[in-house]
Amino acid sequence: MVSGDGLVARVRPRGGRLTPVQAIGLARLAVAHGNGLLDLTSRANIQVRGVTEGGYGPLTEGLAALGLIDPTAEAEAQRNIVVTPYWSSDDDVQTIAATLADALAAPDAPRMPGKFGFSVDCGPSPVLSAISADIRLERGGDGCLLCRADGAVAAARVTAGTAVDAAMKLAHWFLRSGGVSGGRGRMAAHLARGAVLPDRYTEAPVQPSARSMPKPGLVEAGVLLGFEFGQLRAETLSALANHGALRLTPWRMLLIEGLDAAPDLPGLVTRPDDPALRVVACTGAPDCLQGQQPTRALARILTPLLPTFLPQDAVLHVSGCAKGCAHPQPAALTLTAGADGYDLVRGGRPGDAPMRSGLSVEYLTANPATLYVTR
Ligand code: SF4
Repeated sequence: MVSGDGLVARVRPRGGRLTPVQAIGLARLAVAHGNGLLDLTSRANIQVRGVTEGGYGPLTEGLAALGLIDPTAEAEAQRNIVVTPYWSSDDDVQTIAATLADALAAPDAPRMPGKFGFSVDCGPSPVLSAISADIRLERGGDGCLLCRADGAVAAARVTAGTAVDAAMKLAHWFLRSGGVSGGRGRMAAHLARGAVLPDRYTEAPVQPSARSMPKPGLVEAGVLLGFEFGQLRAETLSALANHGALRLTPWRMLLIEGLDAAPDLPGLVTRPDDPALRVVACTGAPDCLQGQQPTRALARILTPLLPTFLPQDAVLHVSGCAKGCAHPQPAALTLTAGADGYDLVRGGRPGDAPMRSGLSVEYLTANPATLYVTR
């Protein structure tokens, strides 16, 4: 993708995991061919920023040597799988994720529309329900495995051996039953329009899933770490990889396998109550060509003030334009950059009708207490 600071190259590691060799190699490539900054994304991908025109070729060659690239861009787009980071070596998560990736790369695989994705959420309990996916393989309340169409309240029972086959059949059903129109289509919208799932998709109720974002800290597989705006420097990535393999999460955090305490490195968000965890800001102007105003400078000023004007756990989203790439979901408070300043949306998305418009940085930073009022 072309951006204001050069090309942005998306890397989609298999199984949502970077080995130490891959992470250190990726960090070297980000310095050699990009500007040394990497973004963690809400699809659990990692992006190399500021890639030069001349650096694109060597970067892709380097990624191929690390096993971090698909044979074609189309194959990479079809392998749209988010994997729970809470897997262990004795569960089926990585096996299912790898089998699903192979099935999507097969010559007879269904060709799914852009943004259509899969989740492999078969850890102890589902954690990805709030993350965008159209076909979900997840853990049921009685410990069984389920295949579920996004938007449905019941699912089909599967086993580790049949889960991927069921997901492929459901994908074929989606295409056959008219889920795609004009090259686009999502499962929940298809069901909302009245599509009726095959009979077996009423077999099992779905287990309630945690919907709030996890906090940094110790988890069973290691340590979960956050980063301001989900961005880290190449040297941080490299230093973290010296501690263990890295699992990417859709919460723009990294799970460092095997660690029992956060490493002492600059740029990490390690406190569960750090307000930086509640602030989302996309790249904005000038580094994104669509950005109407800067985003992160404003977000940095508002972050320490957050506890004074937003309820606990409420999210502030500063978006560089109405597209809202960094946080497509509603947020308690959204500031959307426009040509004349920032629009204020409460409880909505960046493109929603604003309560107030054209607010300046000076006003916003001097009057934060006025931003989250109901009248
Ligand atoms: S929301 Fe707009 S400004 Fe922000 S990254 Fe997306 S396109 Fe760029």
